[in-house]
Amino acid sequence: MKQLTDKGARPTRSQWIVHLGMTGRLQVCEPQTAVEKHTHAVIRLSSGRELRFVDPRRFGRLSVAQAADFEAGGVEPLEVDLDRFLTLFRGRKTPIKSALLNQKLLRGVGNIYADESLFRAGIRPRRRASTINREQLTKLFHAVKEVLQEAIALGGSSISDYVDADGREGFFQLQHRVYGREGEPCLVCKAVIKRVVIAGRSSHYCPTCQR
Ligand SMILES: [Zn+2]
Repeated sequence: MKQLTDKGARPTRSQWIVHLGMTGRLQVCEPQTAVEKHTHAVIRLSSGRELRFVDPRRFGRLSVAQAADFEAGGVEPLEVDLDRFLTLFRGRKTPIKSALLNQKLLRGVGNIYADESLFRAGIRPRRRASTINREQLTKLFHAVKEVLQEAIALGGSSISDYVDADGREGFFQLQHRVYGREGEPCLVCKAVIKRVVIAGRSSHYCPTCQR
């Protein structure tokens, strides 16, 4: 196995990083399938099928990183344990909403999932992360996992034209309790759902259920 010990001759590992942006999606199909409009990349898979990247609004991005250079930062929200989760927010003066969206802390919690998780945990999005006590953060810990698991089970969150790799539409929007419901009554207490902008992102909350 000289090859493996020989510096320079080592097989290099790479990671392919996909940012879907707003409207990007991956499609797995047979090579004879007609190429859709807005297809920006076609990758031949070892199975003979093709993986295609389709992105009408072009906010998505594809890149390749050498494994050694790749710094994902952040922890996987579905894998993180409670103790680690609690330390993520210790001493953070930023609003909890921004902390949830910070990919260097938690990976893959998007705007909708952050709002929905905060609602379930009863925490206002503007609260400074460091002022939230252990009990509330524990609620948030469970809420984030719950929301992501529900979203995965339902096939992703659909705002406009998001579809999964097989072209099916996501239906998570039917379950939104606060996101996109500005001015509508809270499903729990009937108070009017409010919208504020935090770090450039729309944030929705119930002024009564969330403190
Ligand atoms: Zn409410």
